[in-house]
Amino acid sequence: MRTIAFGYSTQCNLRCGHCVAKGEIPDTSTMDLGRAREIIHEMAASKVKGISFTAGEPLIFLNEINELVRLCHDLGIYTRIVTNSFWAPTRERADTVVKALKKNGLCQLRLSYSRWHQQGLPPRNVVNAAESCQTYGVDYFVSFVTDFSEQDDPHEAFLRANALRFFPEPLIYSGRAASFDHGPLCTDFQANCCAMNPYLTPELDMYACCDAGSHFTDTQVFFLGNLADNSVDGLFKASETNRLFHLIRTAGITRLALFAGFTSRQIIRYRKCDLCRELFNDPATLKRLQQAASENVNHWSR
Ligand code: SF4
Ligand code: SF4
Repeated sequence: MRTIAFGYSTQCNLRCGHCVAKGEIPDTSTMDLGRAREIIHEMAASKVKGISFTAGEPLIFLNEINELVRLCHDLGIYTRIVTNSFWAPTRERADTVVKALKKNGLCQLRLSYSRWHQQGLPPRNVVNAAESCQTYGVDYFVSFVTDFSEQDDPHEAFLRANALRFFPEPLIYSGRAASFDHGPLCTDFQANCCAMNPYLTPELDMYACCDAGSHFTDTQVFFLGNLADNSVDGLFKASETNRLFHLIRTAGITRLALFAGFTSRQIIRYRKCDLCRELFNDPATLKRLQQAASENVNHWSR
């Protein structure tokens, strides 16, 4: 099923210390609203079934996003908004926003929460936003960004104390978090398959992956093209028919790392996106993997 992260604007009211989306100097851009409408029509015609409004803070542009959510609703596209809940300092303010989003057909709010977000916003905002969602029947969940350190224990306790539905979201060591100390990170020896949800920037650049992959500056491996020169359908097809991306989705990044010569002890020290960057942002390793992916890859399976 085709889904996409839709970056209407990279503008944000916060400047979180861990943000993957921006570098040290905030560089903001916003899509033209008329062009955004056209693109959503084109997406519907290309059988895109879900749009997640993301990038900076989408609800800075409340009227525009309400209009685009309505359009998606009318075209039968599932919608989600990723937000830091700055608009919910009180229940009354939260109710006004959630009621309007519900009226326009929004399907889900994803409320970002972390010790970095909450340096700029009171934790109460997320509770107000979640309670408004419950009142007006909008599906929601809290995306609890964490490095799993003890510093996050009080934040997790806060979410539990307020009976919020939350899911831990591992910190991505990219963007402003690139310099954070990983510590002796060890994970299970897992497949690390990635669904690879594409991402559209306000400049209409489309990437095959919505997270750290748009920052693979040495290889630009996930850059698909710009909508000024390509159709939505053409760029989705470019991602769907790429043999290396197919392997990332199905075989998983761990198996590709083994093939590339990483030892199993090395592999368990990386989280998924970090391992992905080690493999695909290195021009020599990428070339080897692309070559292998274009040949017979059956010997990579058990
Ligand atoms: S993490 Fe989200 S809320 Fe924080 S600066 Fe980045 S886009 Fe804004
Ligand atoms: S694992 Fe790679 S392709 Fe998947 S989200 Fe992370 S950086 Fe993107």
